[in-house]
Amino acid sequence: MRKDAKIYVAGHRGLVGSAIVRELRSQGYDNLITRTSAELDLRYQAVVDAFFRASRPEYVFLAAAKVGGILANNRHPAEFIYDNLAIATNVIHAAYCYGVKKLLFLGSSCIYPKYARQPLKEEYLLTGELEPTNEWYAVAKIAGVKLCQAYRRQYGANFIAVMPANLYGINDNFDLETSHVLPALLRKFHEAKAAGMSAVTVWGSGNPRREFLYVDDLAEACCFLMQNYNDEEIINVGTGTDITIRELAELIREIVGFNGDIVYDRTKPDGTFQKLLDVTKINRLGWQAKTGLREGIEKTYRWFKDCLN
Ligand code: GDP
Repeated sequence: MRKDAKIYVAGHRGLVGSAIVRELRSQGYDNLITRTSAELDLRYQAVVDAFFRASRPEYVFLAAAKVGGILANNRHPAEFIYDNLAIATNVIHAAYCYGVKKLLFLGSSCIYPKYARQPLKEEYLLTGELEPTNEWYAVAKIAGVKLCQAYRRQYGANFIAVMPANLYGINDNFDLETSHVLPALLRKFHEAKAAGMSAVTVWGSGNPRREFLYVDDLAEACCFLMQNYNDEEIINVGTGTDITIRELAELIREIVGFNGDIVYDRTKPDGTFQKLLDVTKINRLGWQAKTGLREGIEKTYRWFKDCLN
């Protein structure tokens, strides 16, 4: 990518897209194209086509998606499958029609089978049944992966697909109903401390394991892969280590400085037990995550507190 290349970052206000924009700008890319969802609703094929026809991006980071935590996925299955399928088909097809040189599609570690061996190698995709709490989202993301692969095979399009671990960081969603676990717990512990409460409730048993990747590390990886990866096979991006939800809750309690108890609400779903990514492939290419979990959570917590002021 030349520094003056025309780069469209879809979803630039979200957790991932905003981090990609920060990373690109810091590397000196200054010809970025962005549109809010009010300006360009990616679920509508005709407006996506018109946008690509008029703006002719050379590179596309497809970070726009309908996302949410375990409850949001469960409660809004139609939105999770429809919005994500529509966004993926419209943007990938338009990228092909208007000669985009390279497109990077963002998937998720939830595309892998629920009972796959750990750590999850890229080749395990579509070898077993999915986790039911997020299968709607997962099916749409798998379709996005397959679109990239199909357009590469039939048309020679250089479209790649990246599977990140559970992400967190600046511009995360802190809404307790729809967020993922890490921002939810930061907020719960922060508010419990401020209100002098005696306990914080954590969903599920606390036993599931999750791998958390700081979103700035993912953004760096995406820019790296845009320069260095041109294969059909999907590629994982993660830290290579995971922790239990219980350990995460205890770490966040310590970082926030809350002195009360942690209570587990077992009426809420645990979801998949483990989804640790095998990151051998990206490590071999020469990239690895650099932000430790404690450091990443501390940065995210500072940002969260700044937003409250
Ligand atoms: P997942 O990785 O797709 O399952 O998404 P989440 O980040 O929503 O949930 C990860 C795990 O954290 C699940 O086992 C949840 O039950 C657990 N968890 C514990 N407390 C919370 C919470 O307050 N919010 C969310 N979203 N998950 C929680």
